[in-house]
Amino acid sequence: MEGLPVRLLRGSGLLRRHFPTCLSSWKVPPRVLRSSQSEVHLKGRSNALPSAPLQTFTDEEMMIKSTVKKFAQEQIAPLVSNMDENSKMEKSVIQGLFQQGLMGIEVDAKYGGTGASFLSSIIVIEELAKVDASVALLSDLQNTIVNKLITKHGTEEQRATYLPKLITEDLGCFCLSEAGAGSDSFSLKTRADKKGNYYVINGSKMWISGAEYADLFVVFANVDLPAGYKGITCFLVDRDTEGLHVGKSENKLGIRASSTCPLTFENVKVPEANILGQVGHGYKYAIGILNEGRIGIAAQMLGLAQGCFDYTIPYIKEREQFGKRIFDFQGLQHQMAYVATQLEATRLLTYNAARLVEAGRPFIKEAAMAKYYASEMAGLTTSKCIDWMGGVGYIKDYPVEKYFRDAKIGTIYEGASNIQLNTIAKHIDAEY
Ligand SMILES: Cc1cc2nc3c(=O)[nH]c(=O)nc-3n(C[C@H](O)[C@H](O)[C@H](O)COP(=O)(O)OP(=O)(O)OC[C@H]3O[C@@H](n4cnc5c(N)ncnc54)[C@H](O)[C@@H]3O)c2cc1C
Repeated sequence: MEGLPVRLLRGSGLLRRHFPTCLSSWKVPPRVLRSSQSEVHLKGRSNALPSAPLQTFTDEEMMIKSTVKKFAQEQIAPLVSNMDENSKMEKSVIQGLFQQGLMGIEVDAKYGGTGASFLSSIIVIEELAKVDASVALLSDLQNTIVNKLITKHGTEEQRATYLPKLITEDLGCFCLSEAGAGSDSFSLKTRADKKGNYYVINGSKMWISGAEYADLFVVFANVDLPAGYKGITCFLVDRDTEGLHVGKSENKLGIRASSTCPLTFENVKVPEANILGQVGHGYKYAIGILNEGRIGIAAQMLGLAQGCFDYTIPYIKEREQFGKRIFDFQGLQHQMAYVATQLEATRLLTYNAARLVEAGRPFIKEAAMAKYYASEMAGLTTSKCIDWMGGVGYIKDYPVEKYFRDAKIGTIYEGASNIQLNTIAKHIDAEY
């Protein structure tokens, strides 16, 4: 933990705060976000009590939350519209994530990380997503997938080589999906053939988030195709490895600033020492990490929906039609109350799943529920916010239509909604 406050708060005194009164355009950081008002700060406690309300944060979690919020509002918000328009992540944003200490949240201090809780990662993703879901995805992938895979399954040498860089300057990406292997990802066809003390990878990947900017590629390839999923092995591949080609980023509906690229592997030579964990165990590692990662996507959806709601309500409290505020129509109030309840339910599902992970208790069903529910809720919330704002909600001068576009990815990646429902149904089957 040492050094965290310094890193997180670096430069904050130089930054201006903006508190616009009502409708702020893209060019202006959004108003102070009003979410999580029911949260509790457990003063002086280093651990959340098992019996405490779910929205109970430790000192460290509170500090991380307020710092990320400030960073997101002051340094990311002014850039969001352009990044979306140009489908490009600003370098300053990526550098900022590293400088603020947001890319190694759970990593042990011995490697330069913060050594904070899993819920801290979730809080960071949620706060970033309130302002931009693409930035939240970068932090999510680094914290809940890449760093964790290496921490859990890497050798001491791999951890010492990769983690310090992943915390300070290098982006990682997770390369599982292929054109013919999406939901059925373990039918992947990328192969890795053993030649002496190295492997040769051939094949291709699709939709790899962050690949345009990534330095480290965590690649799943099959060392024994006839053995099916039992041949899947995880490799750590450096960007500059000969034969690894990163294709042009896809032109997408939402999360446009996060690059999503195809990859091709043409006789890519990877030393045996770069195998992560055991040969043939890649499928276990992928399932395990995606189960946890889904809580990160739930947090991303929660954050973006909350950000959209926070932006919209003050507008409809000022906008008047038929001689009164839009907010005063009871038909709308019921809709807002419904959406606010969905948001709160999502937050509880998400935090509960995260706390289950921290407690080392079974969490797979709860993580699937959180991801499923959060994605559906984000679609509903952002759609309703456009309805409530009318024409203003539909145009690109204001962020609401972007929140709507960004929300759609939640029902697709890291396991589509149907796949989450399959997982939940499997648990129900086992429980009854
Ligand atoms: C923007 C973006 C970023 C991504 N980032 C990454 C990344 O970083 N790394 C990575 O490896 N992958 C990534 N992906 C891939 C993503 O995980 C897959 O798109 C996702 O798993 C779905 O696979 P698919 O697109 O092939 O859809 P399909 O598997 O073809 O599914 C199509 C539809 O069929 C349904 N379906 C499929 N199987 C079943 C079933 N058994 N029961 C019921 N319904 C079913 C699905 O729910 C879906 O509605 C990304 C995708 C996108 C769009």
